[in-house]
Amino acid sequence: MTQPPPPAPLRVPVLDAHTHLDIVGGDPAVAIEAAAAVGVTRLVQVGVDVDSSRWSAQLAAAQPAVLATVALHPNEAPRLPDLDAALRVIEELARQPRVRGIGETGLDRYRTGEDGRVAQERSFRAHVQLAKDTGKALVIHDRDAHADVLRVLDDEGAPDTVVLHCFSGDEQFAVECVKRGYLLSFAGTVTFRNAPHLREAARVTPLDQLLVETDAPFLTPMPYRGQPNAPYLIPLTVRALAAAKEADLDEVCAAISATGERVFGSWRT
Ligand SMILES: [Zn+2]
Repeated sequence: MTQPPPPAPLRVPVLDAHTHLDIVGGDPAVAIEAAAAVGVTRLVQVGVDVDSSRWSAQLAAAQPAVLATVALHPNEAPRLPDLDAALRVIEELARQPRVRGIGETGLDRYRTGEDGRVAQERSFRAHVQLAKDTGKALVIHDRDAHADVLRVLDDEGAPDTVVLHCFSGDEQFAVECVKRGYLLSFAGTVTFRNAPHLREAARVTPLDQLLVETDAPFLTPMPYRGQPNAPYLIPLTVRALAAAKEADLDEVCAAISATGERVFGSWRT
């Protein structure tokens, strides 16, 4: 498939708060370099199962531009023959110094049916506890499950840092999350014509609770929707965010960079 051309570089560097370079494929060093060339100087590589979490931790240990998060994805957890054994591996990986978050975990009512929901919620609760035990950010996948995600967080007690990855709610849900001090991470979906509710949500999100991500290779921003996504396409999404907020692009990039370092810690250590 054709790769979209690189967008105009950003003047102020920003990060990709959620990417899957293992699923993007190819040499991760090439993807990291292509991103840096347009001002996307730091990435968060996200694990979704034991193997990809291990891969993510290794990449972060080797690449100064990469930090990692580790977890069992909500659609993965119900399929595992031994959830507890897998959780033990995640817990071990979570203690590595360049693993800075627990995720993506959460609830998915779209892909997982009634039969998998008990295991999915049990896994989510275990990840919430792990984030609290390790003091690392909790990175949440929430698909058609806004109310249930908040219910579990209230029930377990939310960790200090909660990121809603690929924020998919409307203005009202955004206000609720902002009030709780959560971070809202917007993906390429915020550029889609049929998603005015996401631009409304971005508009009411304060700059110090805002993140930007690709979720690559998924959710490619406009005008390349349907083509493969990669971290070098972040400028398209961050420009859409600045437009939605009627804010200065450089200021938005600087704020997102600062927020990223507050949430995940420094990439330099
Ligand atoms: Zn993801």
